Amino acid sequence: MITTTQLDNNAADSLFRMLDYARKNSIESEKFFEQLARTGILSDDPRMKELLNNFTLQSQTRKKNSITQTEFNAILKQNALIKKSLSKNLVIPDFESFIKEVEKIFYESKKNEGGNVADYIPQLARVNPDQFAVSICTIDGQRFSLGDASTHFCLQSSCKPINYCLALEELGEKKVHSHVGREPSGQSFNELALNAKGLPHNPMINAGAMMSCSLIDRENNIADRFDKVNKIWKALCGGKEVSFNNSVYLSERQTADRNFALAYFMREKNAFPSKTNLTETLEFYFQCCSIESCTYDLSVAAATLANAGTNPLTGDVIFQSSTVQNCLSLMLSCGMYDFSGEFAFKIGLPAKSGVSGALMLVIPNLMGISIWSPRLDELGNTVRGVEFCERLVEHFSFHQYDTLIGNTAKINPRRKENELKVSKVMEVIYAASHGDLDEIFRLEAEGVSLNTADYDGRTPLHLAACEGQTDVVEYLISKQVYLSPKDRWSNTPLDDAIKFGNKEIKALLETAIKKQSKNKSETREHNNQNVLV
Ligand code: GLU
Repeated sequence: MITTTQLDNNAADSLFRMLDYARKNSIESEKFFEQLARTGILSDDPRMKELLNNFTLQSQTRKKNSITQTEFNAILKQNALIKKSLSKNLVIPDFESFIKEVEKIFYESKKNEGGNVADYIPQLARVNPDQFAVSICTIDGQRFSLGDASTHFCLQSSCKPINYCLALEELGEKKVHSHVGREPSGQSFNELALNAKGLPHNPMINAGAMMSCSLIDRENNIADRFDKVNKIWKALCGGKEVSFNNSVYLSERQTADRNFALAYFMREKNAFPSKTNLTETLEFYFQCCSIESCTYDLSVAAATLANAGTNPLTGDVIFQSSTVQNCLSLMLSCGMYDFSGEFAFKIGLPAKSGVSGALMLVIPNLMGISIWSPRLDELGNTVRGVEFCERLVEHFSFHQYDTLIGNTAKINPRRKENELKVSKVMEVIYAASHGDLDEIFRLEAEGVSLNTADYDGRTPLHLAACEGQTDVVEYLISKQVYLSPKDRWSNTPLDDAIKFGNKEIKALLETAIKKQSKNKSETREHNNQNVLV
């Protein structure tokens, strides 16, 4: 019987062969990291830190830039992520194909030059309107970015979901929602309006966001309260520091009449907890809006929400899953200003936008996406961001109700065990017919059997014998596959080799079959002797 350790070793051997391009019995470190990057696992991933430190140490001390098989096996044993990644077992197994499609969607959306940058404060009015960035992070931490992904911009309203989560974590759903509702307002984000109970409609509009600010760590001093928010953003972004734009903060404070009016209106209705300091609460809110980061880091924050509150890169639990569930529900119904209903209908995913052109999109249990492009439509949403989301959902089955529609032309890039098995059979047969040994090694590492057969009973050995793929035939023989399986027309690989005039393969198969039957009769004799004794 094959043990798990043997299976592990076989998989490790196959992966090693796959990466040993030059067949030198060693892997170049550079190639190793390139291959990981193709699956979306990048070198600045905190889960790669230890491994990278070891590599740097080795190349400094021994000037060594390659990995032996023993070292490779040790790496796989130590770091489960690497094995999962190389054997294409991450949540988006074919990350390369996926990002190719995303790239097309990005460049199509980039053509859209509609809309205008927000101009209520000079700091936003002066931003280069042409900038566009998209970053993706899956719940397995596979990442990919396009455009101005490292340029910082202020969070503005995209800080609102996180402040709401902080209030929920601290005070619980009941207390928080005794101060803020959870209905879309049907009005503009800064409308001077409260619900029938005199409370802000929801935490995703200005009044509700100020309310969340009044609830966070309210017994503490304002500096520590801001530190708390900063720290949570850092943790959400996988340990990357966020920055603060003081000019944005000062401008927000200077042009805050409407927000002050809203706050006074709420105070008149006794909406705030008692002893709330209004000015302090508003300043805290403006400070949160003035936090800056880039899509590269913010996609990790979005992925943390997609991953029910656990950061996929650090494994840290930032929020409880129930907190995230509440937050995503409100992002879905209220996150996109006056376009929220339309967005929920068309895109079917929770999102939050901000007047800086920021857009955080969450695909639960799959990935977080951070988008930024400063031109806004008349409702205040990033024009390219919305177009990107529309195209994305037209192309991939990401709308939350796509599962209801069976027969769709949309692509589903998620891993699906059963479907995958069938397609793997086809892949290994295809690889054998094309002489693609590397692909065979990779599929073997994934656990695909080389004895597998398609609906017609055709095995990789049949196909390799037909197509004259001598290397593949040799390799399959060395792996002791069945040498004479019959397809539905009763043909064996040897019959195929003869039929297609592949003499070398014919000879190889005949020798192997002879050797096998000799071994068999020897074993039989040996067993008989044992019986006689
Ligand atoms: N700082 C802005 C305000 O409170 C936030 C606007 C937004 O992004 O929705 O007016």
